[in-house]
Amino acid sequence: MFATAISQLRYGAAILTNRRIRPGDLERLARDLVDTIAEFGEPGEDSAQLPGRAGHVDPQLRREVARRSLRATARAAVRHTAYYRRRFAELDLDPATLEPEDWSRVPVTPKQALKALPAAFVSAAASPALMALTTGTSGTPTAVWFSRAEIETAIAFSTISAVLGLGLRPRHTVAYAGCSRATLPLVYAEESTTRAGAGFVQFGTVDPALALDRLAAPLGLPGRAPQITHLTTSASYLAALVQEAEQQKWQHGDFGLESISVGGEVLSAPLRRRAEAVFGAAVASAYLMTEILPSGASPCTEGHLHHTTEFGHLEVLDPVSGEPTTPGGIGTVVHTPYVPYRECTLLLRYATGDLVRLPDGQPDCELAHLPATSGILGRWSGPLSTAVTTREVLDLVEAEPEVPLPARYALTEGPAGPTGPARLHLLVPRLPATALLGRLEERAAAAGLRLSAIVLHEDRAAMPPTAPVRADLREHSFEAPGASAPAPPTPGGVE
Ligand SMILES: [Zn+2]
Repeated sequence: MFATAISQLRYGAAILTNRRIRPGDLERLARDLVDTIAEFGEPGEDSAQLPGRAGHVDPQLRREVARRSLRATARAAVRHTAYYRRRFAELDLDPATLEPEDWSRVPVTPKQALKALPAAFVSAAASPALMALTTGTSGTPTAVWFSRAEIETAIAFSTISAVLGLGLRPRHTVAYAGCSRATLPLVYAEESTTRAGAGFVQFGTVDPALALDRLAAPLGLPGRAPQITHLTTSASYLAALVQEAEQQKWQHGDFGLESISVGGEVLSAPLRRRAEAVFGAAVASAYLMTEILPSGASPCTEGHLHHTTEFGHLEVLDPVSGEPTTPGGIGTVVHTPYVPYRECTLLLRYATGDLVRLPDGQPDCELAHLPATSGILGRWSGPLSTAVTTREVLDLVEAEPEVPLPARYALTEGPAGPTGPARLHLLVPRLPATALLGRLEERAAAAGLRLSAIVLHEDRAAMPPTAPVRADLREHSFEAPGASAPAPPTPGGVE
C-alpha cells in the first residue's frame, strides 16, 4: 500500500509539471486496483480518482490544466519535431507564451501531413518502438510511432478502464474480433484483459459463421463463466455477425455474452437493437483513434459522446472554414493529445476528419462535466458527407432485415449539385423490391433526410462504388463452420 501511495504521488507530480510519467507507477496503480477487487470484491472508494476515470474536477483547475498542457505540448512539439519547428517559425509563433486565447493561431494539422511524412512528427527526444498502422479504409494507412513507455502507460489506463468501466473480472473471457494486423489495439485489449485476471482469445475477422461457433462453444474452465462473456469488434463486422446469426436462427440463449464493445466505425441504432436482440448482450460504442490515444470519448446514457479533458484537448471545427462549430451544428473533431501521456508522435490540432454534431444546450447527464458531442456521424469527404451523414444512412437501411449486412451503399450528387439533396444507391438481394423501396422512402421522408432519390441495385458491379468497411478485411482460416468435432491428427506434424 505504501509503494502504491508513492506511485500515486509520483504520477501526480509528473502530471502537474508535464514531466515524463514512469510507466511503473501507473502499472502499480492498476495492479493494486485488481488486487483490491480480488480481496474485497469491489474497488476502493478512491477508485473514481484513478487516472482516466474522468472524476469531477473543479472547472477553474481544469482550465488551468488545459492552459499548461497545451503550452507544454506545443513547446515539446516545436523543440523536438521537424514539422512544428518549421510551421511555428514560418508563423513567428512562440510556444512558450501561448495562451488558450491564441490557440486558434496554431495551424490545424491535416491528416494528409501525417500520412505523407510520419517521421516529421516523431520527437527527437523519444525512442520510437512500435509503428501503429491505421486500418486505412479511406486509402493509405496512417503510420503513428509509439514509444515503449507510451504503450506501457496506455496499457495501465486500459486495465483500469477494463476493470472499472467494463467491469471485467477473473470469471470473464473476452473475444477480440478485430483485424489481427492492427497491433496496437490488439496489444491493449490482450494486456488489459489478462492483467484484470480475465481470459482473452483473438478471433480475428474470420468467416462470421466460425466466429458464432466459437462464441457459442463451451469453455469448460473451472471458476470461469461457461462461455465467452465479452466481445470487442468493429460495427461492420458486428453487422456481418448479426446477419449470419439471424439467418441461421441463432438465439440469444445460445450465447453467454454479457457485453459487446464496438469501435472504429459508426454503430447505428437499429444495428445495436438487432445485435442486442440476437446476442442478449448490451452493445456500447466508445471513440478511440490511434492518432490521438490515450485520448478518446465515452458514451453516456443520453447518447452523447463525452470527450476526455485529462489526456487531450478537443475542438469541433468547420471542415472548410476551420472556424469553431456553433451549438447544434456539424463539425469535425480536432484533437491535441497532451504530453506527458504522449512523447513520441506529437500532434497539435490534429484534424481527425470525424464528423460530430454539437448539442444545442448544456447536457444534463451523468457525464455533463465533460465536453459533449453527438456520436460519430461519419467521416468528412466533401459536402455530400454532411448533406446526408453515414449515421443517417445506416439508421435508415440497417433497420430493414431485407438489406444484406454490412449494408453496401453510395451517395451521389442529386440534381441540385453537391450541396443539394443526394441520391442514395443501395444494394439489395433482388429486384424489384417495391415494398422495401416504399418503406425506405417513407422512413427517409419522416426522418427529414436530404435525399432526392433512393435507387436500389441488385448488381454491385453496376452501382456507384461503395465505401470499404473493416469487415472486408476478412482473414482466412482452415476451420470449417459447424465442424466443432476434433479434427483428425495432422499427418506427421505438430500444428
Ligand atoms: Zn451525456
